[in-house]
Amino acid sequence: MKIFVRGAVSSYEFENLARIFFPGAQVVQNTAEARQDCIFVRVAAQKPAAGSRILVGLRHQGAVHLRTARLQSAVRLEYEACCLLYALLRQVTGIRPPWGMLTGVRPVRLIHNELERGLSVEQAADHLRSTYDVSEKKLALASQTARSQRPIAEAVRPEDYSLYISIPFCPSRCSYCSFVSRTIENSRDLLQPYVETLCRELAAIAAQTWHLGLRLRTVYMGGGTPTSLSAAQLRTVMQCVKDHFPLDTVQEYTVEAGRPDCTDEEKLAVIKELGADRISINPQTLQDAVLKNIGRRHSAQDILDCFAAARRVGHKNINMDLIAGLPGDTVAGFDDTLDRVLALRPENITVHTLTLKRASNIVIEERAAAYDDVAAMVQHCEAITDAGYQPYYLYRQKGTLQNLENTGFCLPGREGLYNIYIMEELHSIFSAGAGGVTKLKSADGKKMERIFNFKYPLEYVRDFDAILKKKEGVEVFYGSEMDTKTTG
Ligand code: SF4
Repeated sequence: MKIFVRGAVSSYEFENLARIFFPGAQVVQNTAEARQDCIFVRVAAQKPAAGSRILVGLRHQGAVHLRTARLQSAVRLEYEACCLLYALLRQVTGIRPPWGMLTGVRPVRLIHNELERGLSVEQAADHLRSTYDVSEKKLALASQTARSQRPIAEAVRPEDYSLYISIPFCPSRCSYCSFVSRTIENSRDLLQPYVETLCRELAAIAAQTWHLGLRLRTVYMGGGTPTSLSAAQLRTVMQCVKDHFPLDTVQEYTVEAGRPDCTDEEKLAVIKELGADRISINPQTLQDAVLKNIGRRHSAQDILDCFAAARRVGHKNINMDLIAGLPGDTVAGFDDTLDRVLALRPENITVHTLTLKRASNIVIEERAAAYDDVAAMVQHCEAITDAGYQPYYLYRQKGTLQNLENTGFCLPGREGLYNIYIMEELHSIFSAGAGGVTKLKSADGKKMERIFNFKYPLEYVRDFDAILKKKEGVEVFYGSEMDTKTTG
């Protein structure tokens, strides 16, 4: 499907909207490219004003469908044109998207915005319903998530921050992966220098945050798969965190022990001994055939054994990640995975909907149509709430099958705090390691500045001094914050 937009509007939102109905839809610049199936949007006037005409159309399967309207408010031009196009696409395709015409990644943020304006959760949900045509089920999910987050968000102080540590290595590459992650086999010589460089960066961050009087709230070691490191290397990194950071203010310390093909009892014990109180073991699926399809070299039983080993070692807060829509999975297979994960009673269960990205090995055009079952899989996650869990964070990504969501569920009181802090941008995140992005949030919450580390481990190790130089930007940021306070 092609999209052709003409007039005083950008094509960005229309492309996002079209992809809800036609995944892979692409903007074209001239009519010659849009001869076949095509969506078109035309705003008549060059300087749109109230009363200007908007025309949207869809040429599909040999028929042409048109809708036209008069613009009511020039400042709402894009929104009004999107509403018109959404109504047309919904009518012609017969598809009722669960999230309506909402294309943004953080629906819960919209509810928080309304709460901050003094509305109730119910009024905020009404706003989403009337503005974006969000379905009742998704409104309930978003509202419940906002309720779980509210007390946590309200307790955040301006000096709070979290620490993210990136370990961008994995035992093998999963077919759906779009992260910068190197296989251990191809990176053996790099692991030790990476660990040493990472420790230098952690020490630098600790000195900087101490000097600025910031308060560390959560630590999250992710990747990649941190347990790709040897037990000794893992110990080195975690000892470095323990030696340099004041862990007494920390509410939660997570280490991803994502894959059983590199996680053993020794590493699980190191994680526990050095202060982490939350781990993540990520089956994605407990169907052996599906594990094989995604390039995993372990069985479902290995995951169950890993979980049992973690409990034996004393881990009392475990998250398990699942993905709905993996190649070769079925609704029955997904239900079976859900049942077996629920039987383990982990403290958190996070369900992602498969996202097709260009950087992954699953090709969008080939696969997108093959996942009609994904909505049923996501729907069946009601079994999780039925089992006593509640949603506590929720986000969406571009390219997610059927425009669906990713949701973190937890047993009461076991919210994964880092996930909420980062997703709702509640405080600054200091990141160490390749691919890390430091996000600095101003005290008034209005400004967010980002500092990017090098993406690839080799560059990170080789050009580390350049990263330290970039990180001087942290002091500039907080320095200007102080100036604002003294002059304001
Ligand atoms: S375990 Fe995660 S980071 Fe590693 S290859 Fe698989 S999806 Fe990518």
